[in-house]
Amino acid sequence: MSKNGDHKNITGILALQGDFAMHGRMLDRIGQPWRLVKHTPDFSEINSLIIPGGESTTMLKFFAGEGMGKAILEFVAEGKPIFGTCAGAILLAREVSNPTQESLGLMDITVERNAYGRQVDSSVRAGDCPELVDHPIEMVFIRAPIIRRVGARVRVLGRAEGVPVLVEQGNLLAATFHPELTEDETIHRYFLEKASHG
Ligand code: GLN
Repeated sequence: MSKNGDHKNITGILALQGDFAMHGRMLDRIGQPWRLVKHTPDFSEINSLIIPGGESTTMLKFFAGEGMGKAILEFVAEGKPIFGTCAGAILLAREVSNPTQESLGLMDITVERNAYGRQVDSSVRAGDCPELVDHPIEMVFIRAPIIRRVGARVRVLGRAEGVPVLVEQGNLLAATFHPELTEDETIHRYFLEKASHG
């Protein structure tokens, strides 16, 4: 326990832009306390963070302008866990293509943005996360990135049609799909479990 809020069990949901509300709905279902993170002082109130889907380019602008990117890097340096979904996964990746763009560079993965093509802007697929659950789960993809490369320290926890869609590196978890948009609590519960051990 420390004075900077480590004793709190509150998940922050980055709410600069995008799909933050549905993560709140999912955390309510699970019974996990949460709050929105809109400004850098909010980090002192939380001990885990979700970066939602949305537009990674727009979020990057906020990162620079409000010092939010720096605050996220400091949060990770303190050993606190982050779960990035879709645009959030793009922001966590070390390398981003289509086009090349900046990122937080925290996970040793390469992602290609909008990589499923125009015709399938959105799709629902069945994916497998064998270490988490023994049946296929429904995964919603919306203008999703594809994980093209996974570094040696990254564990692939989920695949859909053979492609990695859920990956983990230490305290960081990234999904290219939107687990907050289905009724399946598996992925959020897994993240919160990680967070409770952190
Ligand atoms: N295509 C978006 C991006 O590149 C991500 C889409 C999403 O988060 N659903 O940022």
